[in-house]
Amino acid sequence: MNDLMVSVSGIRGIYGVSLTAARALTFAANFGIFCKREKIVVGRDSRTTGPALLQAVTSGLMSVGCDVIDLGIVPTPTTLLAVKNLNAAGGLCLTASHNPPEWNALKLIGANGMFLFPEVAEEFISEMRREPVWSDWRHIGYLTSDNTAVQTHIDKILSLPYLDLEAIRKRNFKVVIDSVNGAGGLISPILLKKLGCEVIELNSEPTGIFSHPAEPLNQNLTALEEAVKKSGADIGFATDPDVDRLSIVSEKGNCIGEEYTVVLAELFVLPKQKGDIVVNLSSSMLSDYIAAQFGVQVHRTKVGEINVGKKMLEIQSPIGGEGNGGVICPAVNYARDALTGMALVLGFLAEQKVPLSEIVNSLPHYYTYKDKISSSPDRIEAIMQKASTCFDGLQLDTQDGIKASGDNFWVHIRKSGTEPVIRIYVESDDYDKSKKLCRETIGKLTSDLS
Ligand code: MG
Repeated sequence: MNDLMVSVSGIRGIYGVSLTAARALTFAANFGIFCKREKIVVGRDSRTTGPALLQAVTSGLMSVGCDVIDLGIVPTPTTLLAVKNLNAAGGLCLTASHNPPEWNALKLIGANGMFLFPEVAEEFISEMRREPVWSDWRHIGYLTSDNTAVQTHIDKILSLPYLDLEAIRKRNFKVVIDSVNGAGGLISPILLKKLGCEVIELNSEPTGIFSHPAEPLNQNLTALEEAVKKSGADIGFATDPDVDRLSIVSEKGNCIGEEYTVVLAELFVLPKQKGDIVVNLSSSMLSDYIAAQFGVQVHRTKVGEINVGKKMLEIQSPIGGEGNGGVICPAVNYARDALTGMALVLGFLAEQKVPLSEIVNSLPHYYTYKDKISSSPDRIEAIMQKASTCFDGLQLDTQDGIKASGDNFWVHIRKSGTEPVIRIYVESDDYDKSKKLCRETIGKLTSDLS
């Protein structure tokens, strides 16, 4: 776990242990060369290692001739959008998303304002050199900063053609926002105030010292639940440190579950812009329920924002994302964006006559159960081989591990990309059924394997 992880999304590690300034500098220099030594945009989250990492990355990029535009502390979706808006050749996000504060990462962005497509990233990684070819004093790059990216991002969200700003403002929603001391504290309250909300801020200081575990899972959001209850707010929002995942607390002060974020966005957008939904293989069956209501299809992709975004681009889907609270609304950008998610959810709430908890109660309830098998790499391969033979008579999808679907349930078995672990996800219409199915699956996968 202490090794530097290199993947199609970039590099990730514990700062000063596996992810050192020197490694980051060389990696960034190689990326600059891959981007033809042209203009590169860099944005970071609030981690304490961010400024040092930024210096290293900037030095690497400039030293191979790239002009660098530093956006400062901004959400990941803001950086993605800025790469496109500023006509840059590429970009880097300095963020380890919801990982603990000692982690950091460099994530690779293409000129189209999306994360690098996996096949392009593979090409880059295979070309990477230990010692890049440096530029001389005549060809060294310039560094500038740009503090307009946040405003541009907000403006783009507020100009969504189907967002009725007046209707939202008229409701004067009381909103609690928990930014977990990430980049969100600098932008989410501004957006919410522009939407006429009365805003109560939790953990808005972008210190990078997260006041609770940074992943916006129900168990990490008890302070937000309390604050919603205590203040009588209409809704609570929680974002992860780089603001691409959004979780929601209802007016009752209860987390509604991350899976409902994309679902509420679908319910808002589809009546205004009909088209097929794209979500990943592990996202809830709720999207199938919504799609059936609107007479559209659900396309499922491998887990990972870029896979979903790429498919959305290909089929011109109006709305989709990942069930972990990652809303992708192409009218803003083909990227997961918690800020856009907030605007869409408030837009939907403004149209409804009932509070959020009633909307959620009117939707079907599905229950996920997750577990994992930790094992040696060899045994993991053997288990994955076996997985395809475990589901007689069920519909199988092999895009990303094995997903077996039946009537009102599915089981998804996939290898972790970051540790020697197989993850098993189950969703069904009954909690006990999901748990039982998960246990049975693990039993089948591990029987007669030593
Ligand atoms: Mg994130």
